[in-house]
Amino acid sequence: MIEHFHEGELISVLTAQPIDRALDYKAPEGGCMKGAFVEVPLGPRKVLGIVWGRGEGGYDLAKVRSVIRVLDAVPMREEMRTFLERAGAYTLTPMSAMVRLATRSPGLGDPPSMRTIYRRGTGEPDRWTDARRRVVETLESYGSLAFTLKELAEMAGVSSSVVKGLVKQGVVAEEASPRDVAYPRLDPGESPYELTEEQSAAAETLKSGVAGRKYGTTLLKGVTGSGKTEVYLEAVGACLAAGRQALVLLPEIALTAEFLTRVDARFGARPAEWHSGVTMTERRRAWRMVGEGGAQLVVGARSALFLPFQDLGLIVVDEEHDTSYKQEDGVLYNARDMAVLRASINGAQVVLASATPSLESWANAEAGKYTRVTLTSRFGSAAMPDMRAIDMRDAALPSDRWISQTLVDEVKKRTEAGEQSLLFLNRRGYAPVTICRACGHQIGCDHCDARMVEHRFLKRLVCHQCGESKPLPEACPSCDAEGRMAPVGPGVERLAEEVQALFPEARTSVLSSDVFGSARALKAEIERIAEGDADIIIGTQIVAKGHNFPHLTLVGVIDADLGLQGSDLRAAERTFQLMRQVAGRAGRAEKPGVALLQTYQPAHPVIGAILSGDEEEFWKAEARERQAAGVPPFGRMAGIVLSSPDVQEVFDIGRILATRREPLARIGAQVYGPAAAPIARIRGRHRVRLLVKADKTAPLQEALVAWVNQVKLPNNLRLSIDIDPQTF
Ligand code: ADP
Ligand code: ZN
Repeated sequence: MIEHFHEGELISVLTAQPIDRALDYKAPEGGCMKGAFVEVPLGPRKVLGIVWGRGEGGYDLAKVRSVIRVLDAVPMREEMRTFLERAGAYTLTPMSAMVRLATRSPGLGDPPSMRTIYRRGTGEPDRWTDARRRVVETLESYGSLAFTLKELAEMAGVSSSVVKGLVKQGVVAEEASPRDVAYPRLDPGESPYELTEEQSAAAETLKSGVAGRKYGTTLLKGVTGSGKTEVYLEAVGACLAAGRQALVLLPEIALTAEFLTRVDARFGARPAEWHSGVTMTERRRAWRMVGEGGAQLVVGARSALFLPFQDLGLIVVDEEHDTSYKQEDGVLYNARDMAVLRASINGAQVVLASATPSLESWANAEAGKYTRVTLTSRFGSAAMPDMRAIDMRDAALPSDRWISQTLVDEVKKRTEAGEQSLLFLNRRGYAPVTICRACGHQIGCDHCDARMVEHRFLKRLVCHQCGESKPLPEACPSCDAEGRMAPVGPGVERLAEEVQALFPEARTSVLSSDVFGSARALKAEIERIAEGDADIIIGTQIVAKGHNFPHLTLVGVIDADLGLQGSDLRAAERTFQLMRQVAGRAGRAEKPGVALLQTYQPAHPVIGAILSGDEEEFWKAEARERQAAGVPPFGRMAGIVLSSPDVQEVFDIGRILATRREPLARIGAQVYGPAAAPIARIRGRHRVRLLVKADKTAPLQEALVAWVNQVKLPNNLRLSIDIDPQTF
């Protein structure tokens, strides 16, 4: 039974305003339900809130104001409220910020109404113009989605009269639609494929989990192309057939298009989509339909975890090891962990899918907390690529070249055979450093402790920390020498130059997030490559994420040592995952692949593990090291970052915290630092970090709160706590 409050009863309401606690109001005329979305007065303003429970009282009731109105939305369910509370408590996030995550529907307070929407019609225009082509491309790239006139015109970069003109010719269809229409029903049906024995066994395990209607997490491990997607779609089908909703999280928007097409083919219609590239109208529709049960399946980014599902039965986290699941701004949460939390509250199943699981998930499977399901072979006869090292100490390359002769020869063989090669370098831009040859000055960002990176496509120097950019100076800013500024080291853009010089005939494609203005342009390029319309691909880590390139048979890693520098304890894991993922791009059914790693340290244990592909051995060794150091996943950690424009102040406060460690000592936790944060200055703010390490079972959050509350912080000093930080 959902609690109902009568008119005039005292209720407590949580808002997204930065106030630490719920506020008391009187229930409005007609009363309201617990969980209802309401509009309340706050000072002179009206704000959105959620009825959280009974009011506290104990003060002059005459002064308490009334709720203005109850909004037209399904009240927040008990599970969702519990989820927000637990997620907030775990990440030490104030409830106001959690409410903000849960109320991200545009126009939540608007009444439902009719409006005119536009989608692709059946006609062709009498004559094509650039503007008309953009309108049609926009509509076609979003498939079945419809837009308002304003949205469509804006997205295509045309005036609304262009759209209207196309309507007259039947190229664009105009229709009246209530604001929120349910998504087409999906048909759970059957897989179009005959699953292999291993695949069906895996699918059965997942399906029986879903049928149990209880919480459980399964780690679905299998190399790229082994059929993980096919197998978890079986679980999605079972979930839909059971009448419950499913959510599939993907680490990158660029992957959704391919996935949506696949869902369409498997279930007969496209699911709801939720990420930053989705129109406001469509987001509003998704939010409401998820809550009302008019959306059975959602595909989206990590924030989709905060949608108001009516009955969530399954969450799939694809590429679960991907670091982009960790939100690094605002609320610092890891979507993988939050998916497990949400599922445990909803009685839902979680599937964590990856070719290279995170050490966290691997350890949970080892400990028996997660079920483990493994697909050992690639579908068809395709084997994992043959992996070899190229010892760069023997390569003797001049200082402005990065591709060894061995690699050049291999690429040449592929282009001659009409096959594709991928050269991987995880560095955006043209050159990581720009230096003055006269005085040695390096161009840094004015606001950050970071070097400016030259981007030739943009013709500017860019700071990868704050995004600030400036033109490349003619003269050195330090010694005024003219024309002596020079790039040092390679980025993908510079590597592309080397490729063009070596293979002037080849069709090349640079895949880096900077080169494409939009997710759509990137998607188009990925499709172009998949169709074989490029010989040599030069890419950053966006190529490592799940795209299928059937003609690709060679992967060359330009600098396999890049991730191994530095003292981060996760460096080995990251490098291992990234290298295995990138290598996994090579080779398909009939064409076996080869992956070559250029390295200066072929004897490094991580390089050795990558080459041998003995994953269990690698994880066991990693686990032993982490266990000995008492760090995640075997111990708990938190990073506390203090930032301020005043460098003295951040260190002072950091030292005070370090000396008043009693609340932490009580739970046996240790404090390290203060030390300059990995990036010591961002946007003009100096940053200092303390690391706290505790036993797995210690009540870390409570102790952290007690600890930081001892110190009164100066006004312009910010303190943020990151539970389970990415680097330590
Ligand atoms: P993963 O998610 O592990 O990379 P996918 O599920 O995408 O693997 O499968 C890789 C390719 O093999 C896809 O194109 C898929 O359609 C195909 N495939 C997988 N299993 C089968 C099967 N049993 N029969 C036919 N094709 C399959
Ligand atoms: Zn900067």
